Amino acid sequence: MDIQKATDLAHPPVLSLVLPCYNEQEVLPETTARLQAMLARLQANGEIAEGSAIYYVDDGSRDRTWEMIHDYAERHADVCGIKLSRNRGHQNALLCGLLTAPGDILISLDADLQDDLEAIPQMIQRYREGSEIVFGVRRKRTKDTFFKRFSAESYYKFLAMMGVQIVYNHADYRLMSRRAVESLRGYDETHLFLRGLVPQLGYKGAIVEFDRAERFAGESKYPLTKMLSLAWQGVTSFSAYPLRLITGIGMIISVISLVMAAWAVVTKLFTDSALPGWASTVIPMYFLGGVQLLSLGIIGEYVAKIFESSKKRPRFHVESLCGERFTDATPR
Ligand code: UDP
Ligand code: MG
Repeated sequence: MDIQKATDLAHPPVLSLVLPCYNEQEVLPETTARLQAMLARLQANGEIAEGSAIYYVDDGSRDRTWEMIHDYAERHADVCGIKLSRNRGHQNALLCGLLTAPGDILISLDADLQDDLEAIPQMIQRYREGSEIVFGVRRKRTKDTFFKRFSAESYYKFLAMMGVQIVYNHADYRLMSRRAVESLRGYDETHLFLRGLVPQLGYKGAIVEFDRAERFAGESKYPLTKMLSLAWQGVTSFSAYPLRLITGIGMIISVISLVMAAWAVVTKLFTDSALPGWASTVIPMYFLGGVQLLSLGIIGEYVAKIFESSKKRPRFHVESLCGERFTDATPR
């Protein structure tokens, strides 16, 4: 173990920072400057090796994001860019970055500087202590709006209830070793939910806490609809619980209707006030109709997933790459 550690210290890892960007022209100058300063600091301290760099993944932005990335990549050896052919969403863009960037360790983070960069040295420290995956966990969400905080926290609890293995309050700020990233390559699911997938890899993990800041500039690229869609992916990609729930509801309702039928027979046989009323006919009808529609909807959701996955479509297309590292270092 000691020998292992000594070797590690003698050969610091090459670090790649992977950042998906969608219309991030307002934040890119500041983000680049701060990340470069962080890389320089880590390199000066001997914590990372030369060749460490920033990898921006342009997720089909419609503003000047790609031009800016391209320009940085021409002027700075430690900035590289990957351009996707169109907007594929944060999770796909992130996966593309992870699978394309070289390096011994990869840290994924958002482009808007919400993730505290001071967690990076700590993550590297955990890696050197033997962890292959280090999860960045938000300490508290005081900077988020009440709605975002409440909905996000309830969602993490809900996922845990559904049996989805997930690190509480961890989004996509994490360090992965080369080995962990290579393992991720083996999963070719169409509906990505990386924060559910990565813990499943099973390598030794650690947690680093950080405070989440406000977005440095620009607006959130995750409107409510995208957030809900990601939340739904999380549930239906990792849990068959909703399907089981349907069976449960169906059974309970069947039992209730049997009891109701028995009650109807009893009233008919033993009382005069027998004519079963409007309510007892119509209400169950609506109720069962509703349950059936709901059940069909949930089953349909899973069938749609099978349909999507059976097409095995690629999750992204790389249109172009820029930056020295792609030619100097062998990708992967
Ligand atoms: N993002 C992306 N593709 C998208 C939406 C977002 O690559 O379709 C990126 C975005 O540029 C940012 C990160 O994903 O780097 C997180 O998005 P954002 O900060 O807008 O989300 P929030 O922090 O508001 O949840
Ligand atoms: Mg953000």
